[in-house]
Amino acid sequence: MSYDENNIFAKILKGEIPCKKIYEDDYVLSFHDINPQKKVHALVIPKGKYTDLDDFSEKASPDEIVGLLKGINIVAKKLGISVDTGKGYRTLANISEHGGQEVPHLHFHLFGGESVGKMVE
Ligand code: AMP
Repeated sequence: MSYDENNIFAKILKGEIPCKKIYEDDYVLSFHDINPQKKVHALVIPKGKYTDLDDFSEKASPDEIVGLLKGINIVAKKLGISVDTGKGYRTLANISEHGGQEVPHLHFHLFGGESVGKMVE
């Protein structure tokens, strides 16, 4: 699938749509999910134009890959849900149709602030 330049997260990255920003660096932007499913529900997205995790794994540079993983860790600490600042959390990335992905720009969900329940419904 080719990258849709007008997807909602592309618009957030371009500053065309506001977000409740948590963290930003050269590699990632993180913001609160607009429709939180748990007490804490954050999103971490790479700044590069990748549709999903497979696309990212195939095309992203080593620096971008490290930057995204470090970004998740930094955000979890900032939100007080990491192992050292809180009680843990769940991260997940939905990939394409069977994964239930709605927004075609790679994003990791971070759920926490309470027990997040069963892994798969
Ligand atoms: P997914 O189903 O994995 O593609 O998840 C997309 C997520 O993006 C959902 O949890 C939505 O609530 C969230 N979302 C959609 N639009 C926005 C927005 N403008 N700001 C923040 N989160 C959004």
